[in-house]
Amino acid sequence: MPLVLASPGPAGSRPASNRPAGGRGRPPRHLADLPLAERRAVVAGLGQPPFRASQLSRHFFGRYTDRPEEMSDLPLAARDPLTQALLPRLLTPERELACDGGTTRKTLWRTFDGALVESVLMRYPERVTMCVSSQAGCGMACPFCATGQAGLTRNLSTAEIVAQVVAGARMLADGQVPGVASRGGQGGSSPRANTARVSNVVFMGMGEPLANYASVLAAVRRLTEPVPEGMGISQRSVTVSTVGLVPAITRLAAEQLSVTLAVSLHAPDDELRDTLVPVNRRWKVAEVLDAAWGYAATTGRRVSIEYALIRDINDHAWRADLLGSLLAGRLAHVNLIPLNPTPGSKWTASRPAAQREFVRRLEAHGVPVTVRDTRGREIDGACGQLAASAVARP
Ligand code: SAH
Repeated sequence: MPLVLASPGPAGSRPASNRPAGGRGRPPRHLADLPLAERRAVVAGLGQPPFRASQLSRHFFGRYTDRPEEMSDLPLAARDPLTQALLPRLLTPERELACDGGTTRKTLWRTFDGALVESVLMRYPERVTMCVSSQAGCGMACPFCATGQAGLTRNLSTAEIVAQVVAGARMLADGQVPGVASRGGQGGSSPRANTARVSNVVFMGMGEPLANYASVLAAVRRLTEPVPEGMGISQRSVTVSTVGLVPAITRLAAEQLSVTLAVSLHAPDDELRDTLVPVNRRWKVAEVLDAAWGYAATTGRRVSIEYALIRDINDHAWRADLLGSLLAGRLAHVNLIPLNPTPGSKWTASRPAAQREFVRRLEAHGVPVTVRDTRGREIDGACGQLAASAVARP
């Protein structure tokens, strides 16, 4: 029986039995939680020379390992104490699924305290994107989203977020993810093409990243600082996606980062958005967009407006025109997402003709628009469905 309800009330009103088990604890300390200077202090506290913190960090962020037996540059006697103190295993794979010829890989992880989170790796000819979770569950209660149905279990720690990306990098480095032939015919299945790096990270897995601000911000820093401080991914290749928590958007704009902001709008009018994204009752469309334009002005980064097209709910021509008029002339583009229906949902994706007309009208307003590819559908790759189905199993 699916756990997912078609139209839930607010998160707090659901029975506790609908929530994933576990997830009540504080994860053990991990080096990815700490700046390098603090890692050095921990190492020194163990009676080891502080430079061992950099060695451990290179193993984790550069070679994607936390296994003492793979750390031949550390004295044998120091390996176990150091890895126990700074590299505890935070996530255990519960299920792994592949589709798109093995180039899309979804992992359902169990945290140390039994909560379930998921991440998805998507390999394209020119990039590899990791979609990561920032919370176990989510408190935002958007009725079309599988994660929103089960409520919030807890925030993930910085290291629990970073570990999802490191696990994807390890999968790639081990040659487990086949390359994709690019249009020019390069790529393919040569051994060289088979290894790649994680180039992009999107906070579009489970959770509302800006509701877990401190951990997410530290994770962004860790992912983008160079090895050994962090993982060395470009800030421009990181996207933080939000329902529109206005004060947190303003705060993020002030952080001097060049990460991309994605705003999950889904409706251009408050009446509909109040139901599709319940937090809209607190911060209205106009306030959310103002905060987004503030972010664009401060960072110079084009904001991505996410819009899940739901048949006969938000895909009307007049809504396309209203959206187009709100966004015209702004540093923004629209990313249309064909709805991925959650089990038991009364909603489904828009008809192709309605989707085409929606695109046409946005373009007529001069607004750049893309339609997101729907990778991972057959493995419930989008939007919390794997965790929901795992919880639903007896
Ligand atoms: N909480 C954040 C990030 C996680 S969701 C946010 O809301 O932005 C990532 C994106 O997937 C959001 O735009 C979300 O609205 C969208 N999404 C959720 N469920 C979906 C579904 N069933 N079909 C299509 N898109 C969905």
